[in-house]
Amino acid sequence: MKAVLIQEISAQKPLTELLCLKDVPLPEINEDEILISVKCCAVCHTELDEISGRAQPAYLPMIPGHQIVGKVEKAGARCRIFRQGDWAAAGWIFSSCCCCNYCLNNHENLCPEFKATGKDAWGGYAEYFKIKEQFALKIIPPEEFTPEEIAPLLCAGAIGFRSISLSEIEDGMNIGLFGFGASNHLVLKTLQAIFPKLKVFVFSRSKDERALALKLNAYWCGEIEEEPPELLDRAIDTTPAWTPVISALKNIKPAGKVVVNAIRKEPRFRKELLQISYEEHFWKEKKIQSVANITRKDMQSFLEIAFNKKIKPEFTVYKLEDAAVALQEIIERKIRGAKVLAI
Ligand SMILES: [Zn+2]
Ligand SMILES: [Zn+2]
Repeated sequence: MKAVLIQEISAQKPLTELLCLKDVPLPEINEDEILISVKCCAVCHTELDEISGRAQPAYLPMIPGHQIVGKVEKAGARCRIFRQGDWAAAGWIFSSCCCCNYCLNNHENLCPEFKATGKDAWGGYAEYFKIKEQFALKIIPPEEFTPEEIAPLLCAGAIGFRSISLSEIEDGMNIGLFGFGASNHLVLKTLQAIFPKLKVFVFSRSKDERALALKLNAYWCGEIEEEPPELLDRAIDTTPAWTPVISALKNIKPAGKVVVNAIRKEPRFRKELLQISYEEHFWKEKKIQSVANITRKDMQSFLEIAFNKKIKPEFTVYKLEDAAVALQEIIERKIRGAKVLAI
């Protein structure tokens, strides 16, 4: 099968040298696994964290990609959920142990044995992908959704939904979104669908992202360090930097909360932390919390809401062989919504 492989880890070399399109053997499935013929796989900033070594793959070469939509090509002998021809989706959660305290208490995202798709096991930048059937989602795509519109919902959307849940948002609040790429533009649409009285304030360095936010009816848009016209109750940060977190802490009300939805912060931004003042940014019971991984329930719940409320991503389609181009555009902040590889 054709697949895009991460061959080498480097923060300096160009992506075209680190990623390559190759023919690799078709994965062989165990009795409890399904083989999915991948229709499309969305692109995530996490792939850049893997390639640069900030979130290193378990082994090389690695096939990245964790927002996968396709059809079951083959189901193992013990599979009971899926049959050949069913639509299947897979996200960042590839497996967990299913028996530790975290797994047994709805926190499989924190399982010490958590394995990530496209990082600890081969992912979806390929023609085929295999996973245990219990960790795949059975989907019935609504007529008005194409596979390309579903794929970005699986990480960008679902982890955005997890950030919303962790933010403890109530209708009528002021919400700040820092960064406005694949995830936060879906957070905006989700917030608008669930909480009609919210005011959403979007902070972004990119003119394109700010234009998209205004098109999507954000209440206010500004630069990362700009002072919004009203204080915020909650903020969700999806950037690789620290200045946005500091700006969020400065602009939230007492007892407000900042949720950081990023797998890693880039080391080159570490010095920005020196701007922190306890008095200005933390005093008055302000809180900060990270979002780690995802549960199957997050993906399931978010897909239900998205299908129901017709929450669709803004997206651009690329060919599998252009994966490096799509990722380079994320580095250069040519974003405007999500990017999807059609396979
Ligand atoms: Zn992702
Ligand atoms: Zn576990």
